[in-house]
Amino acid sequence: MSKKRILSLLTALVLALALLPATALAQDTVTLPEGVDADSFGTNTVYYDGTYYATLAQALTAVYMSTPEETAVVYCKPGADVGFMTHGHVADDLIIYGNGAYVSSGEKDLEIDTYKFDRDTGKQSNSGSFLDQNITVTVKDLDGIAAWGQRNTDYTVNLVFENCQNMQRIYFTNTANPKGTLNVSLTGCSFDGNQGSNVNTAFYTNAPGDISLVDTDFTDISVALNINHKSAGVQNILVEGCIFTDCALSDSPQASTTKTYSAPIRIVAKEGAATHLTVKDVTFTYSRTNCGNGDILLGDGRYDAAAVQGTVTLAMTGTTAQIMVQQAGYYTDASGSNTNTDKAAVTNASAEDVVRADNDTHFTVDRHDQTVLQNAKAATCTTEGYTGDKVCAVCGKVMEQGKVIPKTAHTYEDGKCTVCGAADPNAGSPATGDTAQPLLWISLLAVCTAAAGSLIYRRKRS
Ligand SMILES: [Zn+2]
Ligand SMILES: [Zn+2]
Repeated sequence: MSKKRILSLLTALVLALALLPATALAQDTVTLPEGVDADSFGTNTVYYDGTYYATLAQALTAVYMSTPEETAVVYCKPGADVGFMTHGHVADDLIIYGNGAYVSSGEKDLEIDTYKFDRDTGKQSNSGSFLDQNITVTVKDLDGIAAWGQRNTDYTVNLVFENCQNMQRIYFTNTANPKGTLNVSLTGCSFDGNQGSNVNTAFYTNAPGDISLVDTDFTDISVALNINHKSAGVQNILVEGCIFTDCALSDSPQASTTKTYSAPIRIVAKEGAATHLTVKDVTFTYSRTNCGNGDILLGDGRYDAAAVQGTVTLAMTGTTAQIMVQQAGYYTDASGSNTNTDKAAVTNASAEDVVRADNDTHFTVDRHDQTVLQNAKAATCTTEGYTGDKVCAVCGKVMEQGKVIPKTAHTYEDGKCTVCGAADPNAGSPATGDTAQPLLWISLLAVCTAAAGSLIYRRKRS
């Protein structure tokens, strides 16, 4: 093969790799304990503490009944179907190595802090107990998984999901107890309404806590990130590097019931609650029209929503998005067809804009359109000058770099420069003005050229 041909093949390979979606490159890593391999599972699919189980649900019951004092570690057979699961009870620190396995049916959820359970029987029981400690649950490389709970206690629940694809949903309500903190971190995960994820809502919580969604994608879901904060505390939500595709479409079957609040990201806080949303490098795309509540909907605009709502702020960079702020009564009835446009405001932000959080106005948008001149300096006969940088008056971002102004000519009189004292190389020749003036003209010309250049540059940019 010729060098040229190898080179072109290499180029094609690099291009092909660059075009592959990031999720396709995310490999499921296989982690199994010493002495366990894919074959040793036999027809079972999950391993916990020396025993193999047919399903993940059975293994979770075993974890609960073992009352683990340290973090329980559960391993799935690589790529296996770990079975049907609805409300797999979890009340301990737990790590699940999914190894690319998947939960195939049921509601597919880890149930946390909803029902009273009995450690002796591993079953739901009125004489049992709710969650009785703070817990951290980490799930890696397990597809289809969900987490669900109706909080009953003040304990903190930390959930970490890494590289879990087509997750069913994360859904936590705190009607019975609005205090328990819920921290959730999703990295490299996905939700797809066409692949078994909940088509109405992928992620819902109304508890205080820190939520982090990084490199996690949402496809064909009505209200992908649906936050209705109902605690007296604070929620901090980070959405970074995520792609929302065809979420909140107006012609989806769910639109008939969700169109008064349907958006890829919807943030509502009840009076007394505060939710701070940070969005970085996020993409919103649609193949058809959406429900018209923007890419990011702040506030509850439904006809029966509370007139006074909590604090919702947005900080955003690197993201082209339509932000819609709605007040109660924007929708004048339940149909979603009739609106009072006085009760909503739409702001379009580009990827270059910087959106800053503001407690009173939700956010402010810095479009870098108010500039000030910085570092401008006049040239002298000994030092170059500078036309100055045009910088954003709000954030200091350099919008237009300045140019160097050449040194001015010396001003000779009687062989010596009157400004800097330099000796005239043509000393002796009495006609000072004759040499100085042409030099002055040349430097003036240089300044004019620089100014004209920057004008043309600005025209091109605008
Ligand atoms: Zn700025
Ligand atoms: Zn001089």
